[in-house]
Amino acid sequence: MAQRQNCIYCNQEITTRSKEHVIQNALGGLYESEDICCPECNNFISRHIDAPFTKIFNPIISRIDDFSKTNNTKSTPLCTGTVVYNGKSYNANIKAGKVVSCPDLSRELRCDISKLPLQIVSYNFDLKNSAFQTGIAKIAFNYAMAQNVDFKYLEPGLVVDKSGNTVNSIEYNYNIIPFYPLNPVDVSVELDGGATEPFHNMILFSQHNELWCYVDLFNTFQYYVLLSDKIPEDKKIYANYTQTLQKINHSAPVLHSLYDPKTIMIYAQQYVVEPCMDPTEFSRRVNNAVARKSQKTSISKIYSPRIGRIPIAHYISRMAQNPEHMCLFYNAIQMYYADDEFQEKNFRTLTPRLDGDTGFYPHEAYNICSQNPKILEEYTYAKFNKLNQFLCGFSR
Ligand SMILES: [Zn+2]
Repeated sequence: MAQRQNCIYCNQEITTRSKEHVIQNALGGLYESEDICCPECNNFISRHIDAPFTKIFNPIISRIDDFSKTNNTKSTPLCTGTVVYNGKSYNANIKAGKVVSCPDLSRELRCDISKLPLQIVSYNFDLKNSAFQTGIAKIAFNYAMAQNVDFKYLEPGLVVDKSGNTVNSIEYNYNIIPFYPLNPVDVSVELDGGATEPFHNMILFSQHNELWCYVDLFNTFQYYVLLSDKIPEDKKIYANYTQTLQKINHSAPVLHSLYDPKTIMIYAQQYVVEPCMDPTEFSRRVNNAVARKSQKTSISKIYSPRIGRIPIAHYISRMAQNPEHMCLFYNAIQMYYADDEFQEKNFRTLTPRLDGDTGFYPHEAYNICSQNPKILEEYTYAKFNKLNQFLCGFSR
């Protein structure tokens, strides 16, 4: 695949390659593409789109041990949440899992609250702002670009305001709909069990003329983004990416003879890194590549064990009163497993329907949630509760 010659945003020739993170680096995203934009636009995006978006996730970033970022800074961001003292709830400012201030409580008690036993019970996430929507849409857009989807299909949703060659604003106008689990298997894998380590997941898929990207951040913020409705029917697109967020302990490979260009070339090929003659820099590149590989996982590695843990007997007894539900459960298992193999391509793209047909996931989710917004609220609440359990360390 030939490299893109011109920047997707300002259309100027790309003379220096710059790496754009598909999921923002501040969120631990490790997947990069050099093929999207020029360094100037990359900078513009990181200041105007990524910074306000990633700020929303501060509570998570500050609580994950060994959080993995390429540009690792030691900063511990400030965030807000709720604490409980003497059975009463208060808003608080929190840094690295510690309460730094709690204005209402300080006012009430007129004392230094830093020594009080305050229990953090939840963190706040501001999802109603446009920065959030933009950030989610950008991830979907980036993933499609990184997967070499023809830009002409994505172009209608991208609005770039320019004066001359200077970019003033970038908008990603793609429809975003929230994910909602539509069958008993999905309900169980998303909600059963205690706090689990969060992960990121993206699934790019086409269905008829539509191109969708499912974006799941921290296994909590789950959305479908409609990138195009003009994809030719016969152009089947499917790709997925899953990664964990905690650094996995891996031993750094021992590299010999780094003064020899031939050896460098062999290592460069083996670890898929740019060769360079500075041994320190080259070792660093190889180590990064190995670390990155260790965090890449797959949908089946994450979800197969979760499906395996579903207490089927319990479900069957509960569903005796509800045979329709049982049928959905059974059909979902059939859809996700064929010949004992987990069918990644069906996951989050298709779901069994009550009428026995197969439904297209984003359409079904949209229909059900627009008919009954309350169930989506309840689901979101339950997911946040689970994330907060992880962040507050209740069941660790
Ligand atoms: Zn540009």
